[in-house]
Amino acid sequence: VRATRGGEEVRGYVPSMGQIFLRRFQMVTQFRQALEDGQVSVHYQPKVSLPGKHVVGVEALVRWQHPEFGRVDPDEFVPAVEAAGLVGALTSFVLDKALDRVRRWLDEGLEISVAVNLSVRNLADEEFPAKVAAALGRFDVPPELLTFELTESGVMADPQRALPILRELHGLGIVLAVDDFGTGYSSLAYLRQLPVDQVKIDKSFVLGMGTDLGDLAVVRSIVELGHSLGLTVVAEGVEDDVARDQLEAMGCDVAQGYLISRPLSEERLEAWLQARTARSLGHRSETVLTL
Ligand code: C2E
Ligand code: MG
Ligand code: MG
Ligand code: MG
Repeated sequence: VRATRGGEEVRGYVPSMGQIFLRRFQMVTQFRQALEDGQVSVHYQPKVSLPGKHVVGVEALVRWQHPEFGRVDPDEFVPAVEAAGLVGALTSFVLDKALDRVRRWLDEGLEISVAVNLSVRNLADEEFPAKVAAALGRFDVPPELLTFELTESGVMADPQRALPILRELHGLGIVLAVDDFGTGYSSLAYLRQLPVDQVKIDKSFVLGMGTDLGDLAVVRSIVELGHSLGLTVVAEGVEDDVARDQLEAMGCDVAQGYLISRPLSEERLEAWLQARTARSLGHRSETVLTL
């Protein structure tokens, strides 16, 4: 097969395309078994409040250790799993792990909220809110300790269908956040109509704002817009002190990124939290831990 790009002939893509399709096909057919076999796990990345540096929660991020391909990125397998109609199984797997984690923290006297990423397909499933309510009940976790992160494009794909589901989730008391804000339609008028509590500024702007005035302007305006709509503003992709200080100066509420911590396995997160608790004895706030 030959293709042209800008009038130039492009060759040599056939074998690698074939490999990509094969790999994708294998991932999709093996996914359910992988869940059962323990190849799929959940890592957690802490989020801290900006002025106070309290740990306000963690984001659950799925990981797949594939026996043949090694570690596969969620950016690769989540879209494949979505396209194959298997994302319900993924979401309920991650949700159960996350709620179980929160439950065990509660048993230890810690109130740490967890954020789970949703797929557009979850927002097309009318049964989804009932499933979530059942999971919260099963783990006896208060809904305020659960956040769902959804992308703008996920909501915009089919707003007629997504909106009632979002309203139901919000009605349960779950916190809703718009993820990767600034990358999609960024329909500001739309944001006002969504039952959301938080916006997460996409990491591309946060990573770029030290060198690109355009990115800096985008970050600043999302912080202002978010606050004017009464939303909590979270920045992802905070990798250095300069970015952190700039965000703090702008009034951004929460930071998440490699500067604070990479996503960690459950075990390593435990150690990370313990190190923070030890350092902050006597300074416990309502958000529990201090960085
Ligand atoms: P996301 O929800 O926007 O998650 C943030 C991504 O940025 C994560 O990538 C995280 O590891 C990465 N990140 C965090 N801090 C930094 C930083 O300081 N610098 C840089 N360069 N990157 C940072 P990850 O874990 O590879 O996940 C990628 C995407 O896959 C997520 O983007 C989310 O859209 C999706 N995803 C992950 N877990 C799930 C899941 O359980 N369900 C669904 N539906 N999607 C998921
Ligand atoms: Mg997210
Ligand atoms: Mg994001
Ligand atoms: Mg993303």
